[in-house]
Amino acid sequence: MFNVAIDGPSGAGKSSICTEAAKRLGFVHVDTGALYRSIAYSTIKNGTNIDDEISLRNLLNMTKIEILFENDTQSVILNGENINDKIRSEEVSLKASDVSKIPMVREFLLDLQRQLARNGNTLMDGRDIGTVVLPDADVKIFLTASPEKRAERRYLQLLAKGEKIEYNSVLDKIIKRDYQDSHREIAPLKPSEDSVIVDTSELDFEESVKKVIEIIEEKL
Ligand code: C5P
Repeated sequence: MFNVAIDGPSGAGKSSICTEAAKRLGFVHVDTGALYRSIAYSTIKNGTNIDDEISLRNLLNMTKIEILFENDTQSVILNGENINDKIRSEEVSLKASDVSKIPMVREFLLDLQRQLARNGNTLMDGRDIGTVVLPDADVKIFLTASPEKRAERRYLQLLAKGEKIEYNSVLDKIIKRDYQDSHREIAPLKPSEDSVIVDTSELDFEESVKKVIEIIEEKL
């Protein structure tokens, strides 16, 4: 069993790079952001006030999350319902960022993430995998890129989707989210001391995937 922890800010291309690297290595890719997103989705669906501890505790007590892997794709099953196509909206993204600050939620997801890593060779991506979830991971990578480069990529994606948006407002949001993620009290986003930092600012997708694989293969 070999565990790879990959952390980094949003927009560094973590998700797509990890999916491809895991596929080429024959590893299972666990996207932990999807778990926070599924809790967020559940609070929206049930109208739960996340600032009310008792309501949130009740919701978590009724929550059963299962993860399925089929054809290199992870599906999140929430109380029997496959919610994969429901957790990528802007509304869920914002809520996920809010629920991820709550210690009760992080604790709730901790065991599940650790169990998932025990299933075999795993490449797990998130924000605190190398620091909190899998401190003993065999390889730890911190995947990042400059805020300007991440904003540019996000901006081009949104343009391609036909959204009318200004580059500067995308950049502002990224800077704000970075600040929030790295300054929160619990599990802040930061590279662990033993992680290899990969900056993808000047790398294209293929180069980034190769770089990640190279680092992992050195240790395999
Ligand atoms: O990676 P993704 O954008 O899907 O993550 C959704 C939200 O969950 C983010 O706002 C992030 O702060 C949070 N998250 C986290 N810890 C993780 C993975 C995601 O706090 N391990």
